[in-house]
Amino acid sequence: MNFPRTLGELRHSAFSEETLLSRHVKDEMRDNLAKKLRQGGTTFNGIIGYEDTVVPQVVNAILSRHNFILLGLRGQAKSRMLRALTSLLDEQMPYIAGCEIHDNPYTPICRYCREEVRKHGDSTPIAYLTPEERYVEKLATPDVTIADLIGDIDPIKAARGGHELSSELTVHYGLLPRANRGIFAINELPDLAGKIQVGLFNIMQEGDVQIKGYPIRLPLDVALVFSANPEDYTARGKIITPLKDRIGSEIRTHYAATVEEGIAITAQEAWIRRNGNRLYIPKYVHEVIERIAFVAREDKRVDKRSGVSQRLPISVMENVVSNAERRALTNDEHTAVPRISDIYSAMPAITGKLELEYEGEMKGADNVGRELIRTAVAKTYDEYFAGVNMQQIVQWFDLGGEIGLAESASAKSVLDSVKGIQGLMDKVAPLGVGLKDPIESQVSAAEFILEGLYAHKRIGRNEERVFTAGEKQSKRPEKQFDREDPSMRQRRPFN
Ligand SMILES: [Zn+2]
Repeated sequence: MNFPRTLGELRHSAFSEETLLSRHVKDEMRDNLAKKLRQGGTTFNGIIGYEDTVVPQVVNAILSRHNFILLGLRGQAKSRMLRALTSLLDEQMPYIAGCEIHDNPYTPICRYCREEVRKHGDSTPIAYLTPEERYVEKLATPDVTIADLIGDIDPIKAARGGHELSSELTVHYGLLPRANRGIFAINELPDLAGKIQVGLFNIMQEGDVQIKGYPIRLPLDVALVFSANPEDYTARGKIITPLKDRIGSEIRTHYAATVEEGIAITAQEAWIRRNGNRLYIPKYVHEVIERIAFVAREDKRVDKRSGVSQRLPISVMENVVSNAERRALTNDEHTAVPRISDIYSAMPAITGKLELEYEGEMKGADNVGRELIRTAVAKTYDEYFAGVNMQQIVQWFDLGGEIGLAESASAKSVLDSVKGIQGLMDKVAPLGVGLKDPIESQVSAAEFILEGLYAHKRIGRNEERVFTAGEKQSKRPEKQFDREDPSMRQRRPFN
């Protein structure tokens, strides 16, 4: 498509004066959103689990032409949600070529553009911006200044050009003016100093701002969106009242509501499609990894106020795949199939993402991490094997059986040893694994059953990954042990 290249051509195109003057950025977003809603289908691509909660509220905020804020703990896809708003901007937006603040060709607000139009008239050159170029993002920190955000006056430039100090030609524009006619997102809004919030408010309210005491008029056209941690945002004095008043909608985000949703998000975000080795990730491995985050969010040793980010399962998945990849490469195996032991090896992806309470700190991040995995394994095991009689396997250990399953051991060597445990390979069917499947998958399934029994303390395992009868507190009859008893499932095992 050939776009008009001069102001004169623009006047006689689809970007006529009448159209552009009535199409402020919030109108444009509203208009494109209405079109999407009428067409049906997904409103925002790549946003999982918010279909019935966050998305409808964001839609309402945009239809209302509000500035809005997303309130939620870390790792709740707030930034992703805000970036997805670019899908509501026009494919191309004309502006006066060379303008730092992307002036509307028909109503330029900067001095440079006004002079350009006066000099060149209809031959003033026009350039275009894509939706991504119209999205500006800033992480708020206490040291952000008015100069960063709004701009600064350059006195040397002013003196040299003989301009008055308050002339727009002497302003070095900050991030907000550079987002003119686009979307400006400020993350962690409460971290912005009070006087910067005042500056922001003045721009939103009147289009006026003072820079170094000089009044500057900047009637910007910007859709402002924010994110914050709910506790910071609602804390008294963190946000100046007039600014809070100008934020039309407050929308709460949340973590994935179900393990299935979490799995879908992790599958979308984690880097698992790698060139080279073939990879197969069993469903129960997805489930255990996701449950680590769910279990951690409930754990009283983990700080509730900072939350447990979705980035935890995402990073764990990447590490798990890498550990399986490493084993496949060193053993020259055809397919990398993650095992539960790979999840225990992914501790570096867990400990750094947990903010621990005092009790957790005392225990140590590694120990808490291992216990979270163990609980996640126990819960996942119950989904497949609740009520299934595993007595034969337990007995094999009770009679003195021992088996070492190093995480680096080849599938072939492990399969030879697990086949020696009577009844074990007969139990893998509920995991979707048969004796015709690749041995890497069979081994992973067998190990999952042993890890499940260990998580339920029916057999023991030491640090060197040798499974034994272990120390049992009491002999319980089989049925009672495997029953779906909530008190049993919530009991927190320890190493
Ligand atoms: Zn301009």
